Amino acid sequence: MADIPDSHPRKASLMARQDLVEAAAEGLLAESAMIAHGRGEAFDYLLGEKTSDSARLAIREMAARLMVANNPIISVNGNTVVLAGHDLIRVAAVVGCPIEVNLYYRTPKRVTGLLSRLKQQAEVVASGAAPSGWQGDWSAAVSSVALLGKSPDDTIPGLEGPRSVCCSDGIGGADTVLVPLEDGDRCEALVKLGKQVLVVDLNPLSRTAMTANVTVVDEVSRAASILLSEVVLGEAEPTDWDNTAGLNDALAVMARTSA
Ligand code: ATP
Repeated sequence: MADIPDSHPRKASLMARQDLVEAAAEGLLAESAMIAHGRGEAFDYLLGEKTSDSARLAIREMAARLMVANNPIISVNGNTVVLAGHDLIRVAAVVGCPIEVNLYYRTPKRVTGLLSRLKQQAEVVASGAAPSGWQGDWSAAVSSVALLGKSPDDTIPGLEGPRSVCCSDGIGGADTVLVPLEDGDRCEALVKLGKQVLVVDLNPLSRTAMTANVTVVDEVSRAASILLSEVVLGEAEPTDWDNTAGLNDALAVMARTSA
């Protein structure tokens, strides 16, 4: 793809598209990944492609719940790895939790491919600078992030087939699951298990957005970057979060958009 000048107003969006196109060509994404991304882009247009104040509050709540969890986990799919993998690895290193590749359309090839992409991203992250304000041995913290998903040995009750499997030392044993871009059925199944389910979804009306305990209505790479700042800061405390109010705020922001 030709170089996109920094001055291009939609550079980030075009680069994200290109990253997904290349990942799809490598066989890392399900066929429907582009449909999901296109749906997200449409909602992001209505948000002005920026993080709203209410999304910032939701990210803060997400950070707080991750920090107080006994067994948090970050569950990722292909789009999430491609768009936000580096920052989510940084978040996992700060929080001290594993990352599990968990796919709705699971194939061994895609899981293996995404795990090796995450491993490459972790090497880049480990050799880079620690997030500003974080103290400690950064390389050791990143190396200690377990990358799970290759050998699922557990299932999520209420789901059938390959989309039900998970790892017992990951999603299966977790009390809190950060799962950006989740499908509605699986989100509901995780909530039914009594887990705290924290999602990122640009569509405030998706079943996922409406079922989760905390929904961040924002683009996943922007949200992951702000989440990283919040977990490094470590000041947020869980509140009595009203998720429906957050979704209504997002809809109000979209409704105020004008030409
Ligand atoms: P549900 O099953 O929850 O009702 P759905 O059928 O739309 O929703 P998917 O097809 O899995 O679910 O779509 C994924 C969701 O992820 C969509 O709601 C889309 O808006 C959102 N999405 C796609 N790309 C991004 C992104 N980069 N950042 C945040 N959200 C995104």
